Amino acid sequence: MTDEIYDITIIGGGPVGMFAGFYAGMRTARFQIIESLSELGGQVNALYPEKTLLDIPAYPAIKGRELVANLKQQLATMDGDIKLNQTVINVEKDDNAFKITTNQEITKTKSIIIAVGNGAFNPRQLSADGVETINDDQLVYTANDIESFRDKVVLVAGGGDSAIDQALMLNDIAKKVYLLHRRNEFRGLEHMVEVLKQSSVELVTPYLIKSLDNTDDGQVRVHAKKMKTDDEFIDLDVDKILVNYGFISNNKDMQNWAVEIEEEKHATKVNNTLETNIHNIYAVGDQAKYDGKQTIIATGFGEVPITVNAIMNDLYPGNHAPVHSTQLSD
Ligand SMILES: Cc1cc2nc3c(=O)[nH]c(=O)nc-3n(C[C@H](O)[C@H](O)[C@H](O)COP(=O)(O)OP(=O)(O)OC[C@H]3O[C@@H](n4cnc5c(N)ncnc54)[C@H](O)[C@@H]3O)c2cc1C
Repeated sequence: MTDEIYDITIIGGGPVGMFAGFYAGMRTARFQIIESLSELGGQVNALYPEKTLLDIPAYPAIKGRELVANLKQQLATMDGDIKLNQTVINVEKDDNAFKITTNQEITKTKSIIIAVGNGAFNPRQLSADGVETINDDQLVYTANDIESFRDKVVLVAGGGDSAIDQALMLNDIAKKVYLLHRRNEFRGLEHMVEVLKQSSVELVTPYLIKSLDNTDDGQVRVHAKKMKTDDEFIDLDVDKILVNYGFISNNKDMQNWAVEIEEEKHATKVNNTLETNIHNIYAVGDQAKYDGKQTIIATGFGEVPITVNAIMNDLYPGNHAPVHSTQLSD
């Protein structure tokens, strides 16, 4: 644990958490954003990067991907710590501050903004016989390390936008790409489905993976059953499997925190400054619950200045101009 104490810790790097980081920077707060995924952007990035959003103020139309890129650009103008691949597993009261424990480190903070949306995301797991016998290099859920697919025979499993994007992306560097989906139709944008059909990606539909086996020459044998048949199977020997079945989210982690934050209907109950029942712990975005709450991005953006200014007024009373936080030790 370092001696540094952050003014504000933002838990969750979705669109609302990202804007909270930017606004904390505007008030010259010393801040960190802790995000459990490998990328910022929350639901927008993970679930619908290709969707065109029509209800973001000042943008008649903007793709999810572009919105996240703009938020990243705006956030980068401020000097905060962005911590990816870290999930907050505990928050404890510690004298005049809070102790935040993630799966990697412990830090201290004077205040917290919970911006966890519906909770931490995890990729939906492949359920098939023998899945536990396949090593982590051969069965993956994200394609972060593109080079590891070079010249490999790859099977991408899934039928949404993201599965299509990844199959096409890997097709440029892999030896061979199969795209296996349990339906004949893909759920991607029409244009991308057309590009897919024109590409050399081999479509394996409608099939469901039933079992995986290690072959003698170090590959994985994918044994898949044709949907709505009893005895039509296909075997594919591949070097790597990329599963893209989407994400599931839950906020069970929060229930295990030492601080007991009052809930309402699986979200966090807040007052009119977005403060929870615990002084200096606030919630914004989809996670914040109050009468009339709408869980859309514009609402979350609007909540951010209320929260950050309430925190700064509490930490540095009487300072109306931007203040600079100090570095403190235990
Ligand atoms: C399909 C779909 C379409 C939508 N379309 C629109 C639309 O057109 N317009 C609109 O305004 N809204 C839309 N929404 C809603 C919008 O996406 C949400 O309102 C918005 O994402 C909420 O932002 P957020 O930052 O509060 O939470 P999220 O986007 O959910 O981000 C929360 C982040 O917190 C992280 N996190 C969670 N727990 C932890 C933890 N313990 N430690 C560290 N990190 C954690 C998560 O990994 C996640 O990245 C749509 C939602 C969906 C699902």
